[in-house]
Amino acid sequence: MDACYKDDLSPISDSCNCLACQHHTRAYIHHLLTTNELLGPILLTMHNLRCYEVFFRDIIMSIEEGRFKSYKAALSARALDFHNSRDSPKKRKTSLL
Ligand SMILES: [Zn+2]
Repeated sequence: MDACYKDDLSPISDSCNCLACQHHTRAYIHHLLTTNELLGPILLTMHNLRCYEVFFRDIIMSIEEGRFKSYKAALSARALDFHNSRDSPKKRKTSLL
């Protein structure tokens, strides 16, 4: 577990509306994970499932609206930015999606 989250009172992602991000902080989830509480992985799973739901919903919408190519290019650019921010995860306040 990354100790930089120990005192971080922000949600996993500012832009996510899942239950974990709306009601819990990174510090609390870090505590749950370091003490092996089952709720920690459950909250992370809830967040990850919401990310997948949004990810695939956006892909489907871009295909239906005929703009998948530009969506893919924008997503690739955001993925590169996200990857480059990995050296300073505490500064990262947004998720890939
Ligand atoms: Zn979330």
